[in-house]
Amino acid sequence: MAKKKDKKSKFIYEKKNGWEKISKKDASALESFNKKYIDFLSTCKTERETTDFAVAEARKKGFKEGKGDKFYIINRGKSVCFVVKGKKPIEEGVRIIGSHIDSPRIDLKQNPLYEDTELALFKTHYYGGIKKYQWVTIPLAIHGVVLKENGEKVNVVFGEDEAEPVLTITDILPHLAYKIQMTKKMYEAIPGENLNILVGSKPIEDKDEKNKIKANVLSILNKKYGIIEEDFLSAELEIVPSGRARELGIDGSMVLGYGHDDRVCAYTSLQALFDAKKPVYTTIIYFADKEEIGSDGNTGAKSKFIEDVILKAIENAGKEPTYQMLRTVINNSQGLSSDVNAAVDPTYKSVNEMNNACKLNYGIALTKYTGSGGKYSANDCHAEFFGKIRAMFNKRGVIWQTGELGKVDEGGGGTIAKYMAEIGVETLDCGTPVLSMHAPHEVVSKLDVYETYKGYLAFIEEE
Ligand code: MN
Ligand code: MN
Repeated sequence: MAKKKDKKSKFIYEKKNGWEKISKKDASALESFNKKYIDFLSTCKTERETTDFAVAEARKKGFKEGKGDKFYIINRGKSVCFVVKGKKPIEEGVRIIGSHIDSPRIDLKQNPLYEDTELALFKTHYYGGIKKYQWVTIPLAIHGVVLKENGEKVNVVFGEDEAEPVLTITDILPHLAYKIQMTKKMYEAIPGENLNILVGSKPIEDKDEKNKIKANVLSILNKKYGIIEEDFLSAELEIVPSGRARELGIDGSMVLGYGHDDRVCAYTSLQALFDAKKPVYTTIIYFADKEEIGSDGNTGAKSKFIEDVILKAIENAGKEPTYQMLRTVINNSQGLSSDVNAAVDPTYKSVNEMNNACKLNYGIALTKYTGSGGKYSANDCHAEFFGKIRAMFNKRGVIWQTGELGKVDEGGGGTIAKYMAEIGVETLDCGTPVLSMHAPHEVVSKLDVYETYKGYLAFIEEE
């Protein structure tokens, strides 16, 4: 007897796994796209490295600093905007895709190096929202800069080359952890002041030296980078997981790597700008710094940098960059706050409401609001703009879904959306779903990475 076919109402909004509807062409294109993305993520681990990489790529594509139809403006080496002139006059507004290129990490303190029990260690201060227990006993690397007294800037990358040692944060063995860790609350088990980086154990060959292990580390650093201990005071040295991003899963369908949040949106938006046919509106790809610590500072999204860039775009379009013109352009502008969202983790489903949470492989996630509690601190995107993007993505065959940041009252968080919206830009949160967000190694799906790119490309090319 034949089974009666399930009848589906055509009025029902049906969600489908992206792999069941992706074209053969896209399924193959996403593999080569992700290969390049993995290379990018493996080498760009800080806001400075991401800025440098992106500027070098843009210059290869003919972008010039501050002038012309394709230009970029760098903000203190940590934040950058890429601008391409559109077909429409600038007073009709610009299109902005804004991501952030800082990620949770562990910074060295200003006086980091000390010796204790004949071991040398670095004191640290973590940056952004981390679960401290995840950062111990894994291979770590240093990325950053040291400013010497003579003004010379020394770039440091230590612990990435296979031939070079790595660093680590030690943890206590389970045999002795009962009282000081196991019976404590998780967030108290490893205090911030315990995130000390082990950097040496061998004494210098000098009988008169008091701190022989520390002195040896300093002597090695001096040989390698020409720096002395006082130079740490004017340094920004960031401790990040060592090693390359990798394909993940027996089926290789995902990517494991440090800093998908939010370099996945930075990478995909910049590639979309490079690949777009002439944009309809003047388009700005904005990489912000300091999102993970509240978007403050003159390189964060609360700064006036984006307005400076829009003024430059007005000037380069041959118009008078007056305050009135700036306000006209901004008020006609639309933007995507391109940041990741939390994908449902099957092991921790209880924090999600399944009708509204985003899932791996369901495509780029459109998030109407973030925030916490009663939508506090949220840019709650207007229905009109959400509707426009929904129709645009459907027209272009972008695989997309909606997302929210956990169940109501479960927790919360934000993006740079509200700072873009605050100045007058119509804004929607729109980015890649991520598992293990803010962990040393985060997870995304290759399909979602590619659909994020496709979504941004549609936003640049469509009216
Ligand atoms: Mn983010
Ligand atoms: Mn984040």
